Amino acid sequence: MADAQAQLAAAVETLDYGAGLHRLLASPRREMTVSIPLHRDNGAVEVLTGYRVQHNFSRGPAKGGLRFSPAVDLDEVRALAMWMTWKCALLDVPYGGAKGGITIDPRNYSVRELERVTRRYTSEILPIIGPEKDIPAPDIGTDERTMAWMMDTYSVNVGYTVPGVVTGKPVSVGGSLGRPSATSRGVVQIALAALAHNGLEPRRSSAAVQGFGKVGAGAAAFLAEAGVKVQAISDQYGAVYAAGGIDVPALAEHVELTGSVVGFAGAEPMDAAALLELDVDLLVPAAVEGVLHAGNAGRVRAKVVVEGANGPTTGEADAILQANGILVVPDILANAGGVIVSYFEWVQGNQAYWWTADEVEDRLARRMLAAWENVLAVSKARRITLREAATVTAVERVAEAHLTRGLYP
Ligand code: GLU
Repeated sequence: MADAQAQLAAAVETLDYGAGLHRLLASPRREMTVSIPLHRDNGAVEVLTGYRVQHNFSRGPAKGGLRFSPAVDLDEVRALAMWMTWKCALLDVPYGGAKGGITIDPRNYSVRELERVTRRYTSEILPIIGPEKDIPAPDIGTDERTMAWMMDTYSVNVGYTVPGVVTGKPVSVGGSLGRPSATSRGVVQIALAALAHNGLEPRRSSAAVQGFGKVGAGAAAFLAEAGVKVQAISDQYGAVYAAGGIDVPALAEHVELTGSVVGFAGAEPMDAAALLELDVDLLVPAAVEGVLHAGNAGRVRAKVVVEGANGPTTGEADAILQANGILVVPDILANAGGVIVSYFEWVQGNQAYWWTADEVEDRLARRMLAAWENVLAVSKARRITLREAATVTAVERVAEAHLTRGLYP
């Protein structure tokens, strides 16, 4: 949360807002902590903890993912909720920001147990979610199946089917075409724009991707499709390297079979931490928060860092990367493709009229590239970093909505 608060404080200073408005923007509007009792398959009862933080509603219903990870705590969920507010405002989708999480390692639970956890969590937070209140979506450790369970639990409880309560649903129950690949598609659209901005052509560029989950796997695949040589890819178990470029579809098959990039015959094993320090044109951290920090940022040799993950760069690392002339494209811009297509899903559902995959992709690309141009222009005009420009733009939009509505009572 410290990094998120520091970014807000810097934006507030640039915008010359007073202490009251700063305080308002810094404080989550609502936080809920719930106990989730679970019957394990072996008959034992376990009690897990879950959270939903709604940071802001000034521009519309709160929006943000649900994370299943052992690292989840209230502090993390608060930061992620605040970043969602800025992300939605920056991309001009009519939402505030929220985030949910359960402290759980989903790999240690059966599908049936995960279903029970999801359904109980959903019923605990039921009073504060809904298509006009707060709309969850997938994040680390959750997927479209999780969203189907949430949608079903909510619907059964209110007595009718409410597809709009979550996004990232399976297409069979009102999901959008192109939603699963949206975040990684957006990351690569922005990465190619950032490489071009640095005078680098995709076919002459190399990349390293940290993470091979929902964001990293797609990003690696789309980069390779665009002709970028993806030399290194990691996951939580290890990393692989091939100087000539990794065959990403073959790696994806290996991961499908074994559950990890480790042991992939088409590349050499490498130290996962060293991946961040490779001499490549593009680095895409697409896993978790805080991976670029004061201890390693000085050794980053990539020319461009595009943040597929939320919050991968600490404040200290940000300053070091900037001093070393490395272009950092911030998370709230780079990984916004997911929430953009979530918004498209919600719009399609509300109209009960479905777009083709091409329409989704086309509209996604237009929004991503327009936001990139806008952030670039603000960064030039104000002589600030891309992260500062993105945060300033977003914070200003949220503050404007708040000030226009006025303070009740
Ligand atoms: N979890 C994704 C994010 O961090 C998507 C959120 C959404 O679609 O609401 O942006």
